[in-house]
Amino acid sequence: MHDGSGQEASDRLLQSQDTMNAQSLNFLKALLDAPGPSGFETAPARVWRTEAEGFADDVRAEISGSSLATINGTGRPRVMFAGHIDEIGLMVTYIDDDGFLYFDPIGGWDHQVFVGQRVHLLGRDGPVLGVIGKKAVHLIEADERDKVSKAKDLWLDIGATSKKEAEARIRVGDAGVLGSSIRELPNGRIVSRSLDNRIGAFVVLEALRRLAGDRPDARVTAVATSQEEIAHTGGGARTSATGMEADVAIVVDVTHATDHPGVEKKQYGDVKLGGGPVLSRGSAVNPIVAELLAEAAEAEDIPYTLQAAPRMTGTDADAIFTAHRGVATGLVSVPNRYMHSPNEMVVLHDLERAADLLAAFVRRLTAETDFVPR
Ligand SMILES: [Zn+2]
Repeated sequence: MHDGSGQEASDRLLQSQDTMNAQSLNFLKALLDAPGPSGFETAPARVWRTEAEGFADDVRAEISGSSLATINGTGRPRVMFAGHIDEIGLMVTYIDDDGFLYFDPIGGWDHQVFVGQRVHLLGRDGPVLGVIGKKAVHLIEADERDKVSKAKDLWLDIGATSKKEAEARIRVGDAGVLGSSIRELPNGRIVSRSLDNRIGAFVVLEALRRLAGDRPDARVTAVATSQEEIAHTGGGARTSATGMEADVAIVVDVTHATDHPGVEKKQYGDVKLGGGPVLSRGSAVNPIVAELLAEAAEAEDIPYTLQAAPRMTGTDADAIFTAHRGVATGLVSVPNRYMHSPNEMVVLHDLERAADLLAAFVRRLTAETDFVPR
């Protein structure tokens, strides 16, 4: 739901041009505000492909809903940059006789977040504004007040007075996202509902933009992958990696910043907003790629934080490293506060540094670079 605050935000964002140039900033804003819940990524994917057409040699969409932008089609090795373009959302499951809609979450939600929100629904004939309904506090029995609301106890109100009227605008299976748009805070910080992981799709294309202006030896394909939030062991990432026969892949996603109250650093590490990219080790990550990323960061004076991934990474890396004949995979994350909420928070400078790092990594590769751990 675009309530007008998006335009105000973009005007204010122009003040951030010392951090990011106007073209990239406008691209970021359009990408963040386009609604694209998992399985319904076409709006942000179109924004992404339009931007890519300005500098990539080949731009296309795939059956999975992923979008690809390539430079140096015959170059080697074949590098994949992957950032998932979907976001968490909700889906309409049932419409009752009074025209109220019921819904199920798409992706991993804290159900408390739903209460009181506006929702931007993707109707057949365009956006439909809804609000999430719940009994007013006065109507809730005292012993129920401390209980957490679940999605199944809530409903969507689109202002319809009957089932027939509601069905003229919304069908079962229509999806939506929360009605919040990007806003800027001091210190280069932005908040948006879709930073996870629209900023990954942004960073991989910004890295490609850097490389398109000063070509490396490698073939490089930036991919805006689909459906990570609901299928992080597959989704669009695996089919894209297989289809392009990637030799090496760098996944860009968000990770939890731990610089706010209540997080145990011994468990989650010391990750700061503005601290630069976070490099994962272990799990799906190829050790040679991890070392090359760290070397590239040090050579370019890009600050970074190491993160341990003893089991799953919970990102597209889990899908890509077992794709095709095996893909040497690295994971670069951007510190993010308040993940899976209407106001996730990142620092613009961290996005620039992540894109710089991906470009620097590719420049260190040759057709002979060996990713086999021996
Ligand atoms: Zn997520």
